[in-house]
Amino acid sequence: MDPEVAIMKIRLYRMVPAALLTLLAGVCLAAHGQDIKGGAGLKSLELSTDLSPSIKIEPAFVSSVHAYSALVDSTTVKSVRINPVPLLKQDAVTINDAEVSPAKPFKADLRSGENTIAISVASPNQNSVQYTVTIIQKDLSGQYKTELVQNGIWRISDYAGFPPNQDAYLIEGSAKAVLIDTTMGKGNLAQLVKNLTSLPVEVAITHGHGDHIGQMGQFAGTVVYMSEKDKGMLPATLDTSKFQWVKDGDKIDLGGGRMLEVIDVPGHSAGSIMFLDSAGKTLAVGDAIGSGMYVWKFIPGSSSVAEYGDTLKKLESRLAGFDALTFLTGHHWQERVPLAGASGKQMVADMRILCEKIISGEIVGTATSASIGARKINVLTASYGLAGMWYDPSNIQAKK
Ligand SMILES: [Zn+2]
Repeated sequence: MDPEVAIMKIRLYRMVPAALLTLLAGVCLAAHGQDIKGGAGLKSLELSTDLSPSIKIEPAFVSSVHAYSALVDSTTVKSVRINPVPLLKQDAVTINDAEVSPAKPFKADLRSGENTIAISVASPNQNSVQYTVTIIQKDLSGQYKTELVQNGIWRISDYAGFPPNQDAYLIEGSAKAVLIDTTMGKGNLAQLVKNLTSLPVEVAITHGHGDHIGQMGQFAGTVVYMSEKDKGMLPATLDTSKFQWVKDGDKIDLGGGRMLEVIDVPGHSAGSIMFLDSAGKTLAVGDAIGSGMYVWKFIPGSSSVAEYGDTLKKLESRLAGFDALTFLTGHHWQERVPLAGASGKQMVADMRILCEKIISGEIVGTATSASIGARKINVLTASYGLAGMWYDPSNIQAKK
């Protein structure tokens, strides 16, 4: 280096004011400090609907990744709640210029296709970080979500698992498998079941409501177990020549020690039945006691509250020998607590007590209205413990 240039450089360095050096050091420290704390950003990002506590985002959330996507079904998910939580409490979070907080999450109304949500996190020193979530709304009515409940038992959720969806269950023995209910979803359920098991498959129906028998047509030529009391609910065109009408105490042997025992639990419908798998400690309940929110007891075919209470007493004594049971519910998303371990049995006991309290007048439900097709009817809703019921106030006492 030319000596003169070197001297100039030294002079220039000496000319840098001390104040500027302090400022530079400050900036360096601030930047370093931010690295340690992670800076402005999100601690968590949750998507939910009124019916579903969690909608999956991809990739799984980490603060340092700023772009996500989620897929939702167009028939069941019309809007999504977005709840971004900042890393630092003092940081402000806005979505589309509206301030959000855990107490005030953002509600995004969706349209078909891509919906891009821009989330900004700003710290008091004006640093801000942007995140985006692209919510893709499309028709998923033909898709299923499958989940292993335990070895040899799958939960099959229609509408890709978006509430208010239905759940079917595939239970395998060693000689055959049984599909419990056929749901409403419009996909190829029969093929899905074939992909899950290589065993011959039979069908068992918990009750005759449309959301539980929707895809029966795909199982033509298959043995179907069902209560004859709900026969009138089947489509007139359905071939029932392979149906086996079952009743309380009947057993379906799947081989390998797995047996499904039929338990009559009329109330929700006259022909509501449950399937008890003592070996696996599971109980497929359909809608017979609801799925954790409310059992509907106001529809045509519903028994009186008193008769239902008697039915539940019998069910309680049948289940008395089990310390734990996993309930396979017709609408898994409705479970307010997981109906496994002791809580399923607790719900049965609470439901029986609720019946008793409604009969005695100790509990009087709150008036609400429900619709059966186009017809609106007045019903009462009441709950006790884990149990809840919608019932017809003119159908409490047993019919004489
Ligand atoms: Zn039902």
